[in-house]
Amino acid sequence: MNRVIYMDNNATTRVADEVAEAMRPYLTERYGNPSSMHTFGGQVAGDIACAREQVAALLGCHPEEILFTSCGTESDNTAIKGTLASYPDKRKIVTTRVEHPAVLSTCRDLERHGYSVSEIAVDREGRLDLDELGFRMDDNTAIVSVMWANNETGTVFPIDEVARIVKERGIVFHTDAVQAVGKIPINLADTPIDLLSLAGHKLHAPKGIGVLYVRKGTRLGTFMHGGHQEGGRRGGTENVPGIIALGKACELARRYMDEENTRVRALRDRLEQKILASCPDCMVNGDVENRLPNTLNVSFEYIEGEAILLMLDKFGICASSGSACTSGSLEPSHVLRAMGVPFTAAHGSIRFSLSRYNTEQEVDFVAEKLPAVVQRLRELSPFVKTA
Ligand code: PLP
Repeated sequence: MNRVIYMDNNATTRVADEVAEAMRPYLTERYGNPSSMHTFGGQVAGDIACAREQVAALLGCHPEEILFTSCGTESDNTAIKGTLASYPDKRKIVTTRVEHPAVLSTCRDLERHGYSVSEIAVDREGRLDLDELGFRMDDNTAIVSVMWANNETGTVFPIDEVARIVKERGIVFHTDAVQAVGKIPINLADTPIDLLSLAGHKLHAPKGIGVLYVRKGTRLGTFMHGGHQEGGRRGGTENVPGIIALGKACELARRYMDEENTRVRALRDRLEQKILASCPDCMVNGDVENRLPNTLNVSFEYIEGEAILLMLDKFGICASSGSACTSGSLEPSHVLRAMGVPFTAAHGSIRFSLSRYNTEQEVDFVAEKLPAVVQRLRELSPFVKTA
């Protein structure tokens, strides 16, 4: 079967046709260096300025507050390490247990270099304990980093409230919004966030382009020494096609967000209802009231998520699981463990993440194939008691 049913959009997305079209001339015709003195390069600099405006319009901020980077990981690293470098007297970072490794591994590495890291817990639905956030911060805290939306469960944190609590204490606030941007409305004019990370490939732009939003007045020095690009903070010739593509992807996200979310949410809900109705012993993980419209994380008791994925793969269905199977340890996801999801359920978790390119027929195909896959694996499972 050649058909691919792609429901792994939290991992990466296909580049939108309009985006591919917008970036193409910058590979072949408009290839000038934006720093060059000649008109040919100067035109490209003007086009980058337009793309910066398109990104700023989606986020509700000023174009000068947008710094182009290479990916979400670079933005997260820069936000955290750059802030620590700007506040050398402060040695503590507050974050959560459910962050992406781009934040958590960075913090753990910093811990090995003498910083102290405090991780806030979540409850069984993956919700943040805001009281705990209050008492984890102290005078030694340089930065608080809390993700906007969780990549595994889709749980959306109340970032407005979190930002306000942190800013009342005068501490720098960073949010990893890699999964939120393009999926839910964001308005930085109303929310006191200092630093925000996003990645183009999660919103139908190509891989290799990201953004770090830096609110005007936030202390963050040069993080890549070299030329004067990105206001002197990140030297290096710009990824022009990527920047143009991201601008276009942001324009499309802004234009279609409401309409698409209604449709994508309905598809996700349809998939969820069909799975719950047809597969016994399964449950939805995450805060179902406050969840990204495209994400569904389901646990199937007594079977391995990886085994489900392999069998779905035979039908051309692409989804993902949270276990670190590549390490050979089959460790369940740190997010589900932090939520206290039982071992037998955490191992059997699958994430379906949809996009505007999915159809009702695809949802119905997945919902039709899945029950037999689950039943077959349970017949083989040593954990299932036979009557
Ligand atoms: N943060 C979150 C929440 C993510 O989901 C991801 C990627 O999946 C990243 C950061 C890292 O982004 P990138 O792969 O662009 O470095």
